[in-house]
Amino acid sequence: MLLLNCPWCGPRDETEYHYGGQAHVPFPETPGELDDRQWAEYVFYRDNPKGPFAERWVHSTGCRRWFDVVRDTVTNEVLAVHRPGEPRTADPAGGDR
Ligand SMILES: [Zn+2]
Repeated sequence: MLLLNCPWCGPRDETEYHYGGQAHVPFPETPGELDDRQWAEYVFYRDNPKGPFAERWVHSTGCRRWFDVVRDTVTNEVLAVHRPGEPRTADPAGGDR
């Protein structure tokens, strides 16, 4: 069982959260200029690293706020937790492309 430390509420069991996918996926600067393949890559294609990975989680049964987690996908260890906009303390795969 994964124990996540909500930046506002503190440590809670993973059953209180929902996974939101890869973090730090930038919205295209000129979305109207993307062709179908580029748009599909933005919407559907995500990194799938073995090791540290930046993810978004929401504390759905608590404060309902989103935050970023750096989790090692091999060990399931949580390496860092950030509120949105806070400086990142880790530079995992899944960062800005
Ligand atoms: Zn919370």
